[in-house]
Amino acid sequence: MSEDLSQLVPFEVSDPACAGPLPSEGHTLFGLDAEALAACMVAAGEPAWRGRQLAEALYRQRITELDSITTLPKALRQRLAAEGWQVGRPRINQVFQSVDGTERYLIECPDNQTVETGVPSDRSIVAGVVETVWMPEGDDGDSGDGSDVESQQSSGARGLASETWDSISNGSSRKRQATLCVSSQIGCAVNCQFCLTAKLGLQRNLTAGEIAGQVLAVFDRHSVQVGRDRVNLVFMGMGEPFLNYSNFISAVRLLVREVGLSPQRMTVSTSGILPGIELFAAEPPELRPKLAISLNAPNDQIRSAIMPINRKWPIQSVIDAVRRVPLRPRECITFEYVLLGGVTDRPQDAAELARLIRRTGLAAKVNLIAWNPGPGINYSTPQPEAVEAFRHALISAGIPAYLRKPRGRDIFAACGQLKCTMER
Ligand code: SF4
Repeated sequence: MSEDLSQLVPFEVSDPACAGPLPSEGHTLFGLDAEALAACMVAAGEPAWRGRQLAEALYRQRITELDSITTLPKALRQRLAAEGWQVGRPRINQVFQSVDGTERYLIECPDNQTVETGVPSDRSIVAGVVETVWMPEGDDGDSGDGSDVESQQSSGARGLASETWDSISNGSSRKRQATLCVSSQIGCAVNCQFCLTAKLGLQRNLTAGEIAGQVLAVFDRHSVQVGRDRVNLVFMGMGEPFLNYSNFISAVRLLVREVGLSPQRMTVSTSGILPGIELFAAEPPELRPKLAISLNAPNDQIRSAIMPINRKWPIQSVIDAVRRVPLRPRECITFEYVLLGGVTDRPQDAAELARLIRRTGLAAKVNLIAWNPGPGINYSTPQPEAVEAFRHALISAGIPAYLRKPRGRDIFAACGQLKCTMER
């Protein structure tokens, strides 16, 4: 097992992209909030309310070309373009389609949004390309966390299961549902031993615009109507969101305030970055996603072996920090648990995990994920009987436990498989 924690960049809170100084060249509008856009307009000698028009065009109308923002006078559009301004929203570059309906995208980010991390790496591998995954019907990751109360009340538990994204005609007034898995970094420094993304190392952080831009690029592809369609966002793609905290939370604010999405339909997963959890605990509940902890082991010994980050922030310190997150009514903490055959899927692991979760005293549920294989990673997928026995043991111990459906394994889109893989 690698002992190398050197790629873990020091945790640092910089100014959020939307609140920091405006860029002086290579001006990208997408990623700036209404306030920052208003400041741009004032700096250009225009009234501040032009900023609201721009925000409306970028985030509600989802316009991607400056010249198409017809609420701005043509002369102003031409002047902005002449001064180097562009919308600069990330674009879908390649699509990989799974037999199960899952789609994995390589999304191209404009060069001028690059945020240097200072981490030496071979940037030529993935520079400017990030991965995002669309799962029609979702993967059951939101089951039991309070977010599906509305659908259960209107349709009966799991009543929406038959209402797939593709099976509903465009004219239907019923809600369509899907889950979108969003990346926060290119590559990752956390080095979880079971994860293909870790093989990339950290290439760079994504900006707030690059994180939020993944969402709108995919929304456009699937004609998602905000306010009608039910799309859950999970910040569980490439990277550790809490090691890019400022940009991650700025992206959430853009998606909530400017795009109009509900933070209660968003979940962020962390491997247990303590300073990030502490910042997250201080966020206003109406502006933050739900929290998932990528736990993956029932004790420190196993967790340190498969997640080196545990040696820096062991399980108890993470749990103590999570306890300080004020929960909304009906909200609970999710513990993600990857089942590795013979390593974390044994009956004694289930019993120890149940005791651990009970001891926390938290309103919590467990999401089980049968490990998805990847080249060069020497773990094995658990037997289906072991998975079911594990889930049953947790439920018998009074812990709500759900099995995440493996989605898009054939296109390397499943959990832990994102590595900009180009096959298929
Ligand atoms: S599981 Fe998540 S935190 Fe761990 S290496 Fe992979 S992307 Fe990073």
